Amino acid sequence: MSQFWSPIVHSLTPYVPGEQPRINNLVKLNTNENPYGPSETVLAAIRDAANDSLRLYPDPHASELKGTIADHHSVKATSVFVGNGSDEVLAHVFMALLKQDGPLLFPDVTYSFYPTYCKLFGIQYQTVPVNERFEVELEDYTEAGGAFIFPNPNAPTGHLTSLDAIRAQLVRHPDRLLVVDEAYIDFGGESAVPLTRDHANLLVVQTMSKSRSLAGLRVGYAIGHPDLIDALERVKNSFNSYPLDRVAMVAAVASFKDEEWFRTTCERVVKSRERVSAALQQRGFTVLPSHANFLFVTHPVHDAAELALALRERAVLIRHFRQPRIEQFMRISIGTDAECDKLLGALDEILGT
Ligand code: PMP
Repeated sequence: MSQFWSPIVHSLTPYVPGEQPRINNLVKLNTNENPYGPSETVLAAIRDAANDSLRLYPDPHASELKGTIADHHSVKATSVFVGNGSDEVLAHVFMALLKQDGPLLFPDVTYSFYPTYCKLFGIQYQTVPVNERFEVELEDYTEAGGAFIFPNPNAPTGHLTSLDAIRAQLVRHPDRLLVVDEAYIDFGGESAVPLTRDHANLLVVQTMSKSRSLAGLRVGYAIGHPDLIDALERVKNSFNSYPLDRVAMVAAVASFKDEEWFRTTCERVVKSRERVSAALQQRGFTVLPSHANFLFVTHPVHDAAELALALRERAVLIRHFRQPRIEQFMRISIGTDAECDKLLGALDEILGT
């Protein structure tokens, strides 16, 4: 703390990301990264981009990348906003669109960055409990107020909300904005992007960090009505003209040109998820049904924090959140088959199974 801090800094509760330690042979299942690297097409594009042009600023409008994303999702380029990871896109969304007269509504068990942004931007919010099966029920969002935001699938539970439920919510509340954070949608969900054509009150946020194996590149985007995108551009251009560097944009464009790689890596992750889910259930865990690249699990006897610690001692890193309702749960990202086997082996050792 310092006398030189702006007053707001005292009241912030910064988000704590999963750790990125340097431990040899670490099985890293704590931040939902993709265990399979980016495709050779992407790596070649990055190598090609490392040239003299780096002395020049990148395109502040990211026109080529926006065009590529627009083509991929069959929307107009004016419906696309891009940013430095979806966290930055979300930050702009909170500032540009979610600060309204009534409180912002989001689930009580959800991505813990949302309350952090609310504090940063002075946004009032209210949480809505997920049901006893840890599912988001949009019919429960009845409170009068401002906008809504939730991840689909939800994090850290993995629960998928149907497009019918999202459509019904948009129709029930045509004057309230609904933001769907689809960070994990490619692991078995159906994207709400097509609904943006008929619903001006819907904004969908996606990332290239998970299903496209590019967490280190920092590229995220939002799709919605051009008026919503305009608000995001206004905030972005009041903050940083060049959030995406030349290399990131070239690599992101290349990623959309290798759909085969994208599809096969997603399929492998989903297959491993189902295998690990069954194996954990055999070991007595309750595993919530997941449509994401992670599992949210609890054991009837063993304490989650102690299990997380015991796994860490065996160089297996998973995520445990000290938060109400989920203190007895662990979130386990899906790794390669070899990593998943190491996780299961370590659990066998700890549980004595
Ligand atoms: N939304 C959700 C629900 C997430 O879990 C994450 C990853 N922590 C993000 C957004 C942000 O991802 P990125 O900034 O890497 O795009």
